Formats: sequence, structure tokens, C-alpha cells
Amino acid sequence: MDPNPFLAPSELPYQLPPFDAIQVEHYLPAFEAGMAEQRAEVAAISSDPRPPTFENTLVALERSGRLLSRVSAVFFNVAATDATEQIRQIEREVAPKLAAHRDAIFQDRRLYARVQALYETRHQLTDPESAWLLERYHTDFVRAGAALGEAQQRRLRELNQELSGLLTEFRSRLLADTNDLAVVVDDRERLAGLSEDAIAAAAQAAAERGHPGAYLLSLILPTDQPALALLRDRALRERIYRASISRGSRGNAHDTTEVVRRLVRLRAERARLLGYPHHAAYQIADRTAGSAEAVADLLARLTPAAVTNATAEAAELRKALEADGESLPLQPWDWSFYAERVRQERFAVDAAALRPYLELERVLRDGVFFAASRLYGLRFVERHDLPVYHPQVRVFEVFEDDGSGLGLFLADLYTRDSKRGGAWMSSFVDQSTLLGTRPVVSVNLNLNRPPDGEPTLLTVDEVRTLFHEFGHALHGLLSQVRYPRFSGTSVPRDFVEYPSQVNEMWMFWPEVLANYARHHRTGEPLPASVVEQLEAAHRFNEGFATTEYLAAALLDLAWHRLDVAQAEAVDDVAAFEAAALADAGVAVPEVPPRYRSTYFQHVFGNDDYSAGYYSYIWSEVLDADTVEWFRANGGLRRENGDRFRQMVLSRGGSVDVMAAYREFRGGEPQIEPLLVRRGLTAESSGSTTGE
Ligand SMILES: [Zn+2]
Repeated sequence: MDPNPFLAPSELPYQLPPFDAIQVEHYLPAFEAGMAEQRAEVAAISSDPRPPTFENTLVALERSGRLLSRVSAVFFNVAATDATEQIRQIEREVAPKLAAHRDAIFQDRRLYARVQALYETRHQLTDPESAWLLERYHTDFVRAGAALGEAQQRRLRELNQELSGLLTEFRSRLLADTNDLAVVVDDRERLAGLSEDAIAAAAQAAAERGHPGAYLLSLILPTDQPALALLRDRALRERIYRASISRGSRGNAHDTTEVVRRLVRLRAERARLLGYPHHAAYQIADRTAGSAEAVADLLARLTPAAVTNATAEAAELRKALEADGESLPLQPWDWSFYAERVRQERFAVDAAALRPYLELERVLRDGVFFAASRLYGLRFVERHDLPVYHPQVRVFEVFEDDGSGLGLFLADLYTRDSKRGGAWMSSFVDQSTLLGTRPVVSVNLNLNRPPDGEPTLLTVDEVRTLFHEFGHALHGLLSQVRYPRFSGTSVPRDFVEYPSQVNEMWMFWPEVLANYARHHRTGEPLPASVVEQLEAAHRFNEGFATTEYLAAALLDLAWHRLDVAQAEAVDDVAAFEAAALADAGVAVPEVPPRYRSTYFQHVFGNDDYSAGYYSYIWSEVLDADTVEWFRANGGLRRENGDRFRQMVLSRGGSVDVMAAYREFRGGEPQIEPLLVRRGLTAESSGSTTGE
């Protein structure tokens, strides 16, 4: 057998993993060797007879675990993007071991004693990034239970192991149930409303799944499905909707309700062990919001106006439904369809007619990359000579304007059964001057693949998602920190969405839009009148969008504000959910939460986003405020980009991010731009003014 390719650093450019040499058999031995290597490194630090110094303790910790980092980065990317049953089996096996490994480091008493000793002399550190590293490590140790007694630490380790197993289980059941619930349609007539290329893609998907002659409509992660805006057949819309909301709750082998209950119960117990009333308090204490109460206050401030707007929108949609000769009541599966119709009538914008102007290649190169070149002077060159982990992955080398290489950007944009739902950015190699590494980052989307030879035409939402995820990629690519602990997107969870949301602003920026929105066949630009209507139309239906989002955020918070006894008392997930939504004043029958508990992957398939779904709107306060700043300062200009890069993006988590924000903005964030944007101010309620 060939030597395990993870054992040595990659010799490819930017240390891109040697995907062509990596076999599934390499993962487990590399994980085992990587954990053993880091255990030995950490033992050498904690048993060092010399007194602790910043170098021999913290810098040594930052240098440790390289092999484990290499294999983890590749494995968890592949587990998310191309999971075979074998990969899932490895994930189930390795996740609890990694949790135990992390616990062994952060509960090492001798190591903690060294960090504590350094912490007491922290004023001696003059370099701010090093001082911040010490601050962060000290917090990491305390939050991981380093100061607990032995029996408590033992229980904490048990909890962390079981929790990591449950997260893996949730993701794997959800993926399986989502695939199973894809809707098969036999009769082409019923697909009226879908475009020809969408129908062709559905036919191809059905054939690949063993239903030749039929059409397969697969589900995306949120409750609302894109096809619901287009399909005229009300009964088919209902079938799709019911498939979507039943995910994880059908009582079959993929049911996630027990996983959810157990996760909530164990998280509450872990929080109690660490001295917090509930999981939300524990999680949010280490974020910019500071407390669950601060988050609850913001959500409560936004909810009534959002629900009022959604209710007003529902009244309008009811009229459209009746005018169409359909019977009331308005159902959740009618919302997007009639919202689309009203949008077309009011704004003369036909979403389907826009797609020929939104061709993927142009959006990527002439939109996303173009904006980044104007703002940051970056240049992107596709490389075909480097190995990838799946044939659909594309690699771009990113250059600074002086010609020096910055990093690699991998784009993996199409959906497949082996890929998790949603869209996300991740990292294969983190930038660090200490380690001498430059960034290798990737973006994943779940676009439907067109039939061979046809162009990929996007919806406005898909264009927005691409700009958004690329904003995360920029955070990774432009990172300029010393310590890997701080690289790129290693910032508090409720700050991490901020740079990506800001990047969305460029999709409608006139100079950018004019550059990419051209008809894929004729090259004709999107007519100016349509461009003007587009933004206004985007603000339409904001009541729905804000309400479905807030419902999910409030649901996440409700689950994670339970203490142990309360968590144990929950015996019916659906009933808890209904009561939580009603209590929060966000139970609008036609507007279900963006995610229901049984398929809420952000919070039950992932620890970082638990009690953290609020982060999107929390970050959006900063985002909307920053958009104001860019507008006031001339918009798409290199000096603006450079300032944002220097003060925010390049610093990653190496500073107090809110201090960095205030420095960039010249003051505290203001909430008004967000309220105006989402139509939540008293005066503008229901209107579409704003950004
Ligand atoms: Zn994001």
C-alpha cells in the first residue's frame, strides 16, 4: 500500500491536499496517528520542566496537531460534500474520538496550570495578537471545564462524546430522509410552471435515481422549496410542502425526534456542569451578543412588526388566490406561488424571465470575481492541473494586484445525493504566518445541474447565495494573522455572517450588475427598467422572509433556554415547537419556520450554530450599517475595500472583533439601517423602501 498521504505536508501549491492520492482507507489511520502525534506534543508541553513561557506553551500549542488538522480538513469536507456509506461509518466512529481528544487537551490540569500562570502575568505581553491569544486560550480552557473537579470532568467527557455522536447521527438521518422524500412526478403536465431546463433536469435526476420516464423534484434544506413559487398544480405543491416539513418526523429509521430531545437534554446538562443556567447562556457568553437575554431582546423587538407585515402580505395573497378561482384558506404551499404572482404584477418582474440573464459563469467571473477585483485588487485564474476530490470541483488561483499568489479558491457548486443540503464555505488550509501557510478555501452550493451542454441559469436567490458564500471565502482568503487559532472565519459565531452579508451588497451594485447580468445567448444586458425593479421586488415579501427566519431563531433559542428538568419534561417535539412559536408571538399558520426542529441542521447537526441561528440577524445589524458606510463613501472603490480588508477581514479573530468593527465604522453599530431595510420601522411598515 502507498504511504498515507496525510503523514507529510502536501507538496502541491498552497499545500492543496493531494486528492488524487487520498483513498478512503487513509482516513482512520491518519486520524489515529494525528491524535497520537498531538497527544505527544501536548504531553511534552505540559510536562516541560522549564517554567511556562508564551513560546513554550501557547506557541507550542498553536504549532501542535498539524497531521490531525490536515486529515480533519479533508475528511469533514468530503463527509459534507461526497459522503459514501463508508465515509459516514468513519464519521460515526471518529467524531466521539475527536471530542474525547479535544477534552483530553483542554482538561489537562498541568497544561491549564501553565496557561493560568501565564494569564496572571498577561500585562507583560506587548504584542496585541499574542495577548489576545492568551486571553482566548484561557477562556477556551475554562469553557472546556479545565477548572472542574475530576468527577465533573469525567461526566463532561461522557457528555461531549455522546453529543458528538448525536450530531453525526442527526446529519446522516436528515440527509437520508431528504433523499427519500424527493418527490417523483410521473406526468409532465403536472409540472406546468417550471422552465424547460428545470423539467429536463428533473427528468435526468429521475433517471439517475432509477425512475426513467418520470421527474424527480429533490428537496433543499429550508421549509420553503423553490418549485413552490412556480408550480401551478396546487395538489403537487401540497405534496412537496408536506414532504419538506415531514423530514425527520415520520417514525421511520431516519426519524430525528429522539436525537433532538437527547441533544437538548445533554446540552442543558453540560451547561449546568459548567455553571450556566442553560445551553444558550453558555454558548452566547462567548459571543459578541454576550447573553441570551440580549438576543431575546433583539428578536422580540423585531417580531411584532415582522408578523404585522406577514399578515398584511397574507391578506394580499388571499385576494390573488381567490382571483385565480382557488378556494380559501391560503395554505403555506400557496404562499410563494401567489407572492411570485403579485410580485410580477406589481413590479413587472418575472423571476423566471430573469434567469437567462443570470448565467453561472458570468455571475462568477463578471460578478463575484469582478467585485472582488475592484475592491481588493484580486485576480482569479482557473487551474486545471490540480487534483480535486470530485470531478465537479473547480480550482482558482487567487492573485494580489502585484502578481503575488494569495491562495486557492475551490468552487463546488452542484447538488448531488452525497452532498449535504444548503450552501457553505469551508477551509482546507488556514492562513497563518506562524505556520507559513496560505489559505485554501472552498464554497459549496446545491445548484441543479443542467442537462449536458446547457448553461447553468441561476435564480436571484442563488446569485445572492453565491455572493454571500464568497464573502466568507474572502474572509478566509484575505486573512493575515500570525496564529492559526485566529485564521479567517475563526471569529465569534454571531460575527461570522457579517462579512458574507456585506458582500451580498455588490450583486445589485449598478456597475457590477451591468457587468454580469447579460443574456447568456444574445449577450444583451438586463434592461435598465428591470434592474431598477429588481431591488424593489427583492424588498417585497420581506414580512414572510423575516417571519420565517425569526420563527426558526426563536425556536432555536426556546430549545436551548431549557434547563435540565425542563428539557427532560419535553416528550413531544412537535408540541413543544408549536407552544414555543405561539409564546414568542410568531405562530403565523401560513408562514412556518424556515426550519422545523426535526430538520434544523444548523442547530441539531452542528454545535457551533446551536443557540446561534440568531446570528444572521445579529450580524445583519452590522451589515446594514456597513452598507450605509460604503454608500456614503463612494461604494465600489479600492480604498473602501482596502479599509474593510485591513480593519476587518484580514484580522480574522486576532482582535476583539467588535472593537475592530467600531474602528472601521467610527462608532457603535446603529440598528436603524436594518429596520429600514426589512421594513420594520413604524413608518415604513409594509413598504419596500430602503437599501
Ligand atoms: Zn453564511
